[in-house]
Amino acid sequence: MSPPTPGPARPGRSWPRPPIRRGYGERVSNVLIVEDDLRIGEALQRTLTRRGHQVRVAVTGLAGLQHAVDDAPDVVVLDLGLPDVEGRQLMSMIRAVSSVPIIVATARVEESEMVATLDAGADDYIVKPYSADQLEARMRAVLRRSQPGSPDEPPVVVGALTVDLAGRTATLDDRPLDLTKLEFDLLAYLAARAGRMVSKRQLMAEVWHQPYGGADKTVDVHLSWLRKKLGESAAEPRFITTVRGVGVKLMLPTDPAGPGAP
Ligand code: CA
Repeated sequence: MSPPTPGPARPGRSWPRPPIRRGYGERVSNVLIVEDDLRIGEALQRTLTRRGHQVRVAVTGLAGLQHAVDDAPDVVVLDLGLPDVEGRQLMSMIRAVSSVPIIVATARVEESEMVATLDAGADDYIVKPYSADQLEARMRAVLRRSQPGSPDEPPVVVGALTVDLAGRTATLDDRPLDLTKLEFDLLAYLAARAGRMVSKRQLMAEVWHQPYGGADKTVDVHLSWLRKKLGESAAEPRFITTVRGVGVKLMLPTDPAGPGAP
């Protein structure tokens, strides 16, 4: 049986459109905009659709959560001021089920708010009012970061530790680390989010692709093996820090207890 030939659309039939590619890092993306201001949402939808993105707008937080689960968007643009759910709360609800990059759009500009928002799991933020150009640039940046296997992705260097996400190798003090596949996956996941706290639930979902039961020790066990290879332990952390009940992160040299600290 020969495959149907995509050609001029016949009446009553539509052919799936091939993905439009505009060079690396600029692929057409499936964008979910959670925004209760209809004017903003519709204007963005129009502009981004014209530029070849697939755009869905949700006007409530709960509708946004539903679409984040059902549509598997490549990126979520999340307004913090929503009628039904507090924006940051919604972000952690999305984070519990998906690692989709989230760009927070907000009129709030206090730095402490922004830090709290990034700490809560946002990948970036954009201050209102913003243009479609600005948003597209941020989208490209978070999409590049969320595809760590990309060949032009530079290795993540944290003090004496280097993690080459594309080449799937890691070195410590210039010596190659002998990691199992899961240990590397775990380290790579943390390295791609260096400086950010990642929950065990997120690790279970994204590295193990399994739901997290609270008593599950899988993450802890692999984490302790990884730490041993990194020459550290929970009691004497060098690269990885854990906060009980919150999660784990690969520290940046600028962290108070990070690998560059005295
Ligand atoms: Ca709003």
